[in-house]
Amino acid sequence: MSNPSQNDLSTIDVVLHEDRKFPPPEGLIATANMRDPNIYDRANADVVGFWESAASRLNWYRHWDTALDWDPVGVHARWFVGGTLNASYNCVDRHMNTWRQNKAAIIWEGEPGEVRTLTYRDLYREVNRTAAMLRRIGVNKGDRVAIYMPMVPELAIALLACARIGAPHTVIFAGFSAESLRDRILDSQSSVLLTADGGWRAGKIIDLKGIANDAVAQCPAIKKVVTYQRLGSAVHHVQMEAGRDIWWDEALDQTKETYIEPEQVDSEHPLFILYTSGTTGKPKGQMHTTGGYLTDVALTSSWIFDIKDSDVYWCTADIGWVTGHSYIVYGPMANGATCVMYEGGPGFPDKDRYWSIIEKHGVSILYTAPTSIRTFMRWGEEYPNKHDMSSLRILGTVGEPINPEAWMWYNRVIGKENCPIVDTWWQTETGGIMITPLPALVATKPGSATRPFPGIVADVVDRAGNSVPNNTGGYLVIKHPWPGMSRTIWGDHERYIKTYWEQFPGIYLTGDGARRDDDGYFWLLGRIDDVVNISGHRIGTMEVESALVSDPSVAEAAVIGVPHEIKGQGIVAFVTLKSGNTPSEEKAQELREHVAKVIGALARPEKIYFTAELPKTRSAKIMRRLLRDIAEGRVLGDTTTLADPNILAEIKQLYEDEQ
Ligand code: ATP
Ligand code: MG
Repeated sequence: MSNPSQNDLSTIDVVLHEDRKFPPPEGLIATANMRDPNIYDRANADVVGFWESAASRLNWYRHWDTALDWDPVGVHARWFVGGTLNASYNCVDRHMNTWRQNKAAIIWEGEPGEVRTLTYRDLYREVNRTAAMLRRIGVNKGDRVAIYMPMVPELAIALLACARIGAPHTVIFAGFSAESLRDRILDSQSSVLLTADGGWRAGKIIDLKGIANDAVAQCPAIKKVVTYQRLGSAVHHVQMEAGRDIWWDEALDQTKETYIEPEQVDSEHPLFILYTSGTTGKPKGQMHTTGGYLTDVALTSSWIFDIKDSDVYWCTADIGWVTGHSYIVYGPMANGATCVMYEGGPGFPDKDRYWSIIEKHGVSILYTAPTSIRTFMRWGEEYPNKHDMSSLRILGTVGEPINPEAWMWYNRVIGKENCPIVDTWWQTETGGIMITPLPALVATKPGSATRPFPGIVADVVDRAGNSVPNNTGGYLVIKHPWPGMSRTIWGDHERYIKTYWEQFPGIYLTGDGARRDDDGYFWLLGRIDDVVNISGHRIGTMEVESALVSDPSVAEAAVIGVPHEIKGQGIVAFVTLKSGNTPSEEKAQELREHVAKVIGALARPEKIYFTAELPKTRSAKIMRRLLRDIAEGRVLGDTTTLADPNILAEIKQLYEDEQ
């Protein structure tokens, strides 16, 4: 018998079925920013023309000559060729000539509870001052600026200030270690670092400056470090190096200019470099450019979240991830939205922090992650139920497949069955949302990201690149370039081609598995690398995990394949129970049977391990590859993106004890 993990079966079996369906609310059908049901057909008929009309939402200094120039062999996409614009102008300046200058751009809440509100005029002033300061310390167009900051308004300001002077930023999430920060600074060849004396997280101070100093000690190209005082006297000692280090406020005070003319950059000028989460391996520095990216995120923000001037929009992601770049800063601000920004953890001072923020600021659109929703489920309904959240009208999720059970909870407990849920599938590479409901046009189904956004040509194919029939899983691919796509992996175009464009020439390989149902809805099945092969049946991790999570005692589950003498591979599940449930042999047996009942005996786990937590990336995605390494007794792969290495050590111990 051949080794099933290496055999050539190219599709993925579908084992989980979900028939519930939720139509768009009547009110939205009449008022939504996008409510024309023909939009999908129109966009498909002329993909490039569709995106061209989207680009005219922006202010351009010079109109483009050619909408798309695509070289599928060298893999070079150029959008709106010949056009010039500035992202900071489009997110800030253009609101100055309207009533929006006095509208809240950012409502910020620090973890200890302080609130700062910045109008668009405030933002305009601060972005200009910060841009002037960057210029003064020697940042020129094209220079990379590394940013390692907590979630404070100055972080958003820093991005826009870099964009203003045409200096690509590279934001490194403030939870990363000195090594990870160093690697990203070196890889992006940044010459300036913007950081802070610290930040608050779960009631504790994170010593960002100490970490930054350790990192910069190994980055000779860094000429200046600007440190924002977030903590001030709350932090005891901050080591500043003469000549290199400056305090943010002093640097601003020493800057005379109050206005910096926005750089008129080429549409393809790099706007930022951002590293992927590293769920599957070494992070890749995705390079995004200006015109196409901004077009993409401006349009998707408006249509998917239906952001209106009356809305208070809150995306709970950190700006350190692509979600924060696209859907806190560039997309919403290009639309003149009011954005809530929160610094800290969801459980501080108590487990109702998010719900209290929604009540206090009247949040109407909430965009968060399935992993957070599963945590809230585990904590219990009493926390959201303490608050009046009737301001909410649209809910979104991103980051991982959302299990139908978590979707239903989100819908019932948070949305009060009154708010459409937009489950948005996309990646750091894609820049903007790719598969999602449009809330007034697409009925939702729990667990499905539904349809490709207009102008996005997605398909599910087998190993040979042929479209698979409905209800068969395969590789999720994108068949036409789109404006938000990353143009290269910074410094490694070879790897970019190899990772995404080699398997199916001219077609973008996402790395995720998916199926399409008879309504043309897409269901994400998990990563292709994680697919489990049982007796020749290839099963996506998502479906087995969802079956486990549908048991009322289960909070979270991660499923992997391990070698099995007869079946080739068998399923091993790592399960976190909700509070009030105790791990036991009986419980494990019960869950194995539950899976067999929900999706068939084929998927019955060989073994269930109960763990207090699952190993996750710093963006809170489950890292199955490390669980596989443990299960197969291998040396652990790249663990630098792991949020908490102790969890992994505990699981390893647990696993070894049972062998
Ligand atoms: P790396 O590429 O370095 O392994 P990563 O893929 O975790 O890291 P991101 O770009 O942050 O880095 O994550 C994108 C991935 O997240 C997608 O490819 C997909 O696996 C998952 N994902 C995001 N949103 C959804 C969603 N709505 N449904 C299902 N999966 C999602
Ligand atoms: Mg990825």
